[in-house]
Amino acid sequence: MTNVPEIFGSLVFNDGVMRARLPKDTYELLKKTMIEGKRLDISVANVVANAMKNWATEKGATHYTHWFQPMTGITAEKHDSFISPTPDGKVIMEFSGKELVQGEPDASSFPSGGLRATFEARGYTAWDPTSYAFIKGNTLCIPTAFCSYGGQALDKKTPLLRSMEALNRQAMRIIKLFGQDDVKCVRACVGPEQEYFLIAKEMFDKRKDLIYAGRTLYGAKSPKGQELEDHYFGSIKPRVAAYMEELNEELWKLGILAKTEHNEVAPAQHELAPIYTTLNIATDHNQLTMEIMQRVAKNHGLVCLLHEKPFAGVNGSGKHNNWSIETDTGINLLKPGETPYENAQFLLFLCAVIQAVDDYQDLLRLSVATAGNDHRLGANEAPPAVVSVFLGDELTAILDAIEKDTPYLAAEKTLLRLGVHVLPRLPKDTTDRNRTSPFAFTGNKFEFRMLGSSNSIACANIMLNSAVAEALRLFADRLEGKDDFNGELHKLIRDTIKAHKRIIFNGNGYDEKWIEEATKVRGLYNFKTTPDCMPCLISEKNTALLVNHRIYTKEELYSRYEIMLDNYCKIINIEALTMIDMSRKEILPAVCDYIKTLSETVVSKKAACSSAGYAYEEKLIKRLSTLTEIIDMRTEELEQKLIYAKGKTNVTALSASYRDDVIPAMQCLREVADEAENATAEKYWPYPTYGQLLFGVR
Ligand code: ADP
Ligand code: MG
Repeated sequence: MTNVPEIFGSLVFNDGVMRARLPKDTYELLKKTMIEGKRLDISVANVVANAMKNWATEKGATHYTHWFQPMTGITAEKHDSFISPTPDGKVIMEFSGKELVQGEPDASSFPSGGLRATFEARGYTAWDPTSYAFIKGNTLCIPTAFCSYGGQALDKKTPLLRSMEALNRQAMRIIKLFGQDDVKCVRACVGPEQEYFLIAKEMFDKRKDLIYAGRTLYGAKSPKGQELEDHYFGSIKPRVAAYMEELNEELWKLGILAKTEHNEVAPAQHELAPIYTTLNIATDHNQLTMEIMQRVAKNHGLVCLLHEKPFAGVNGSGKHNNWSIETDTGINLLKPGETPYENAQFLLFLCAVIQAVDDYQDLLRLSVATAGNDHRLGANEAPPAVVSVFLGDELTAILDAIEKDTPYLAAEKTLLRLGVHVLPRLPKDTTDRNRTSPFAFTGNKFEFRMLGSSNSIACANIMLNSAVAEALRLFADRLEGKDDFNGELHKLIRDTIKAHKRIIFNGNGYDEKWIEEATKVRGLYNFKTTPDCMPCLISEKNTALLVNHRIYTKEELYSRYEIMLDNYCKIINIEALTMIDMSRKEILPAVCDYIKTLSETVVSKKAACSSAGYAYEEKLIKRLSTLTEIIDMRTEELEQKLIYAKGKTNVTALSASYRDDVIPAMQCLREVADEAENATAEKYWPYPTYGQLLFGVR
């Protein structure tokens, strides 16, 4: 049996280790840096680095790396060993404060969207002391931010930290207004629920589409899918259970609070949720979780698919981002309190989120936009592409009563006249759960459900923090210095509800009628694809928000616009090329083989028995021959569309062409290839079928 408390955090240079291994004054200076963001003196850094190195080498580490999160969406690391030569021809293990604090990786091959000319290859990594160092394999990993020579952020961590600061700045102004002088800072907290698929490795290895694109680009539906709803929360198969056990252990060693695991809706789909923690750490941990999920799978002959839509016809995978704001004194600002004073503060923060989501729906939508996630949003399995807020009936009724200044009939049937100071006690978990809402209030947090399973959670939270910071800024501007604070507060809450109630929707988000109402009556955005929403990143309104709160510079925003669309194009390009490759080298030859067998059957039947019928073979030969003609034709068409798309000279037009020309051509090709699969004997089919992939792990 694993001794969980003993292994938990054993590979992390955490607070306990620091306290034990650092001189007291060094420890205190480091803590100060962590809490207040002060710069660390190099002499202190030297002491910390040496202690880290000693600790890491005792655990078997030989190397260190600055671990960072470039715009590729995955993490990057370059390993350096601790060795340093001595005059007697030997080595000692060394690690200096300078090496801890700053690195200079060659940045030229990371996406920069024009921020850094390739000749200016230098980039900097800078230690983020707010996230603990850890050991992975034989390497001490130091979480770092990554920026260009000119100081522009080239990663996801830098803007995330900036957005946390912005939220802190504005939320503290509100906290002050409520007289909570003991609070030093507020921080966003997140618990990301991670969905994934597990399939047998030997099947994965036979499919070029899974290898190159992470999703199936062809595949006829299997006779059984998810319709019996027998997988969700079903008993976990022993092989999968063994995987989860090892995964948990690996995560626990890294101090990741892996908590909940269960089977998800689609066959072969599962979920893992950690206990929530400070956003910055939750982001690092989620990146590590995704990496370790994939690594551990190999030990069990499995492959972990993190793509948003690995299989057509069954649910794809998302990531629910449970978000709240907490004070350093441990108060969750989104928890409806039990005293009037807490209630008013809760209502104000609630209104800030409502206003933020309404004003910056477009930013939230684009923060989760990727080629992969485009398959999910709006496909009746994930929330729609329209952003709205679910509050539940009770909270909605309360806001309604405040807006209209009418009494509110609380659950216990007492009539309450609502000033902002009166709020009935809300049960933590209101019974009316709604899984179809993109942004749902769930008792003491908001669950943003539009994220794709492979997304870094950084982007969504950067936008969410920034939008809420802006709403809080406007609120603070209005409330500060007012004589009648309570009166102004009441008015502010009422005005906000009036102005932003269009974003509140408690019904079924999958309903076609809602999409119509949302777009036509309420005027909400409905961006179906990545190229549709991405221009909003650089709109005047959003640039103002992100630049004013110092989340991004204008240049950084443009670079990200380029990178996101460029990435979209590249992904679809790889998918299209893979389809062409599979069509020409696998599908067409396989169908021809089968046609040949059928033809030979006809010939041998004729020779063997003059009265034997061969209408079946002939009919099938005819059908399959027609299908091969069409497959060939559509393969060529896809190729032509790719050539056409590549003729576009800027990334905006290029991405539009991939969306409008290439993707439809891919769909046309898939349709006819899947039809051929259904008509071909299974043993001739060149790669594993949906049935084998989805039900192959036993
Ligand atoms: P479910 O939504 O599956 O019913 P929960 O709501 O209990 O499960 O929790 C889902 C995730 O939300 C977990 O990662 C949990 O740690 C996280 N979570 C719970 N409370 C908070 C909070 N106050 N702030 C942020 N995340 C939270
Ligand atoms: Mg949940």
